[in-house]
Amino acid sequence: MNVALVDSHCHLDYPQFSEDLSGTIARARNAGVGMMVSIGVKLSTFENVRAVAAKADHIYCTIGVHPHEAGEEGLSSPDRLIEMASDPKIIGIGESGLDYYYDNAPREAQRESFRAHIAACRETGLPLIVHTRNADDDTMDILEEEYEKGPFTGVIHCFSSSAALAQRALKIGFYISCSGIITFNSAREIQAAVADVPLDRLLVETDAPYLAPVPKRGKPNEPAYVAHTAAKLAQIKGVSPDEIARATTNNFFALFIKADRKHLLSPEAGV
Ligand SMILES: [Zn+2]
Ligand SMILES: [Zn+2]
Repeated sequence: MNVALVDSHCHLDYPQFSEDLSGTIARARNAGVGMMVSIGVKLSTFENVRAVAAKADHIYCTIGVHPHEAGEEGLSSPDRLIEMASDPKIIGIGESGLDYYYDNAPREAQRESFRAHIAACRETGLPLIVHTRNADDDTMDILEEEYEKGPFTGVIHCFSSSAALAQRALKIGFYISCSGIITFNSAREIQAAVADVPLDRLLVETDAPYLAPVPKRGKPNEPAYVAHTAAKLAQIKGVSPDEIARATTNNFFALFIKADRKHLLSPEAGV
C-alpha cells in the first residue's frame, strides 16, 4: 500500500488499549494507518479521549454522548458541545444516534440527545458521527427533518443498515463508513448496499476494540486492522487497494475539515 489509510472511528481510550497504547499506535503506523480518530461516548470520560489525542499529532478525537449513555448523560442542549468544539483536537461531534437493538437508554432520551448533537454540528460546522442500529427509519427521519431546518454534515459510522438508509443518507450529503462487518461472510446485504455507494462518499474505520475484520475476527480489534477492511472494500468496489486508500483518505479530509492533512503520516516514511 502506497497511500495512507485513516481509521476514522476507534476508541483508543478504552481499557483494552491501556496496557500497550504506544504499541497499538506503532502497529497502526506500520500497517499504513496515517491518522486515527478516537471517538467520544460520554462527556464524563471525555478527558481520557482527549488525553489519547494529545499523544500524537496524527490522533484526533470527537466529543459526544453515545445513545447507550443517553439515559444517564443524554444532552438536551448543544451548548456544552459547542463550547468544547473550539479545542483544536476535536474534529467531530458524536458518536450520537439511535440504538434500538440494545435499548440501553429510553428511546425518547436517545432522540432528544441526537437532536442536540445535530444542533451542535449545525452551529460549529463540524461533522456528526452517527451510530444507528435497528433504528433506520427514526434515524433518517430525524436527520432529514433537522437537515430541512439548516444543513450539517456527517457520517453513518460502522454501516450495518439497509441500502435504503444508505441512499437516504447520501441524499443529504452524508458519508458512509465501513467497518470490519463488511468482511463477514454473513454481511451480503451490507456489502451490496456498500457497492452502490459512490467512491467519493466512503470512509473506513475499525470501531476498535470491537468488530475485528476477517482474518482477525474474534480477536480484539485495533486500528492496524483497518487495512483488512480497506482491502475488502476495494474488492467490493472493483478497484485497487491504493485507489480505496486514496479515495477514503481524501473523503476523510473533505468531511473532517478540522483535521490537518500535514499530520497524515505517509506509509513510506517508516517508523
Ligand atoms: Zn457506534
Ligand atoms: Zn464507536
